[in-house]
Amino acid sequence: MPRAAYDLIRRRIDGKPATFARIVCRSCAAHAECRVDARPPPETIAKTFEREGWSVDRRNANRCFCPDCHPSRKGTLPVTMPATLTTPAPMPSPKLLRQVFAMLEDRFNPETGAFQDGWSDARIARETGASPIFVTKTREDAFGVLRVDPDVAALRRSIDDLLSQLSALSAKVDDLDKRRRP
Ligand SMILES: [Zn+2]
Repeated sequence: MPRAAYDLIRRRIDGKPATFARIVCRSCAAHAECRVDARPPPETIAKTFEREGWSVDRRNANRCFCPDCHPSRKGTLPVTMPATLTTPAPMPSPKLLRQVFAMLEDRFNPETGAFQDGWSDARIARETGASPIFVTKTREDAFGVLRVDPDVAALRRSIDDLLSQLSALSAKVDDLDKRRRP
């Protein structure tokens, strides 16, 4: 289990016992203290430090950052977080944007919310080299939501194919049957 966000420290102030919560920045080891009740509710302590600009994960000391290292302020990534989850994808070049846009225009029908046969966000991403997330976002912003899942559409097409093969086969069987009878 990770260590809690802060330690409670007991000291005597003017001869009377007092309790302090102490928090340490994971990134630069800066620390801060605030005076608290003898048995303070953890939320209260977290809020107190947050008001001072700290980023506090009260269950995990490895995710606490001082105001200077606050992830949202400095853009510093918490050490324990995988970079892929938090790094925004680089903005695609205008040329790539145009390619994605043109391909969406050709292959996606905003009225039906469906791609042409065999097309999808993933395929446009493959063909242009753009990230799938970017293609999806561009489609949603500029053209509209996907109402027909390309995979489901493909499945429906193979079922239709099978059904027509089946009915051709059954016509053939009928035919044979008729010829066999006297
Ligand atoms: Zn710091």
